[in-house]
Amino acid sequence: MKAHDGMYIGGQWRDAAGADTITVVNPADEQIIGQVPAGTADDVDAAVRAARAAFPAWAATPPAERAARIAAVRDALAARADEIAATVTAELGAPPKFAQAVHTGLPVAVAGSYAELAASYAFEEKVGNSTVLLEPVGVVGAITPWNYPLHQIVAKVAPALAAGCTIVLKPAEDTPLTAQLFAEAVDEAGLPAGVFNLVTGLGAVAGQALAEHPGVDLVSFTGSTAVGRRIGATAGAAVKRVALELGGKSANVILPSADLPKAVAAGIADVMRNSGQSCNAQTRMLVHKDQYDEAVALAVEAVAAYVPGERIGPLVSAKQQQRVRGYIETGVAEGARIVAGGPEAPRETGYYVAPTVFADVTPEMTIAQEEIFGPVVAILRYEDVDDAVRIANDSVYGLGGAVWGEQEEAVAVARRMDTGQVDINGGRFNLLAPFGGYKRSGVGRELGAHGLTEYLQTKSLQF
Ligand code: NAD
Repeated sequence: MKAHDGMYIGGQWRDAAGADTITVVNPADEQIIGQVPAGTADDVDAAVRAARAAFPAWAATPPAERAARIAAVRDALAARADEIAATVTAELGAPPKFAQAVHTGLPVAVAGSYAELAASYAFEEKVGNSTVLLEPVGVVGAITPWNYPLHQIVAKVAPALAAGCTIVLKPAEDTPLTAQLFAEAVDEAGLPAGVFNLVTGLGAVAGQALAEHPGVDLVSFTGSTAVGRRIGATAGAAVKRVALELGGKSANVILPSADLPKAVAAGIADVMRNSGQSCNAQTRMLVHKDQYDEAVALAVEAVAAYVPGERIGPLVSAKQQQRVRGYIETGVAEGARIVAGGPEAPRETGYYVAPTVFADVTPEMTIAQEEIFGPVVAILRYEDVDDAVRIANDSVYGLGGAVWGEQEEAVAVARRMDTGQVDINGGRFNLLAPFGGYKRSGVGRELGAHGLTEYLQTKSLQF
């Protein structure tokens, strides 16, 4: 894999301020695939200065021209599709087909959606005797996780560019090579120097320096609730805008009127997606007591298709593997029943976790409350629809969700769920629909026009 030994700041690859590096490991075979520099506060400062210097001109660039640059970024990404997919496979462990279709295809499409939005969005509106101008917030500090390495970057950078903001990105330390490829694409697309800057580094060093930097106007963070809470507190103290996309523990409510085999198979597929590392995974499957045993049998059947090393990849790191196996052990200790998988590693090499299904899970158990972030499904039993809604909402999180059943009934249940998204009968992901959380799943929304407004502030002129 190709790795740059510098930071992309002010339109060029520059030497890092310090000498420390981050080693990138392939989680499928545990081999080292590259080294990138570990940025310091000095690198972050240089990047923020570059972004600040580039801001006035970029903010004043006509939206149609900004749209053309975003389209050029999209095209540069599309031209590197094979390299991007191979890199995501190497540093995240995503199976090649999924790396192509989702890890590469989705961000290319999201970039395209913002090229269109930048060109068509009304950055000015009339309200009575006022004209409201929608202006860019300023310099954005973007901090992203490893689970959808390119998508998380594009879902922040593309709307920020569309709005007229400039950006400093600090990507996850586990997946910096994909971020470097993105910087190459930006460079190729001819964005003015300093509009986009990349500082690789550790969260506690480079990430924290970025979140605390007084020259950053908005911090957009995706990652764990623990870190998000700190970033929110820091931003609050500085009276700074913040957008947080955090964890989830989403419910999949299967009503008695559902096509049970289809609902269970789709529910298992949803959790196994990206090897169990999706923040909106519907990891709590809620089944009516009369259909419970049948649903458990169907889940066991469905999960057998997810053979580690074939249809499902490893987790990103040894740390995540240990964490997930620890949750599986906790599930057993608290009295849940393993019907598929278990804590033992399914392969000798690589950070694999066996696709695991728990039955007899009750709402207060750790595995029904905490985000596991691995290929683990908890099947819970409900008495009636009210009970199902109560269990679905018994969570500190509220990011995703699903309901299966007769459509009107399913929509009625979805309306009662405290969560940012609900898929009805397997409804497909929509990259223009707002994505984000209720409760502790976050603040703000990404994607589509709602995602764009996060990067805008209003100025009202009265006439
Ligand atoms: P994490 O919070 O540790 O890391 C995310 C990013 O924050 C990384 O770039 C990391 O370097 C940085 N970071 C870490 N400590 C920091 C600090 N003190 N200051 C500033 N930045 C810091 O999360 P993780 O363990 O790498 O990722 C998994 C978690 O992310 C899961 O809990 C998952 O739910 C969540 N996640 C949420 C979404 C979403 O859209 N809601 C998407 C992906 C992941």
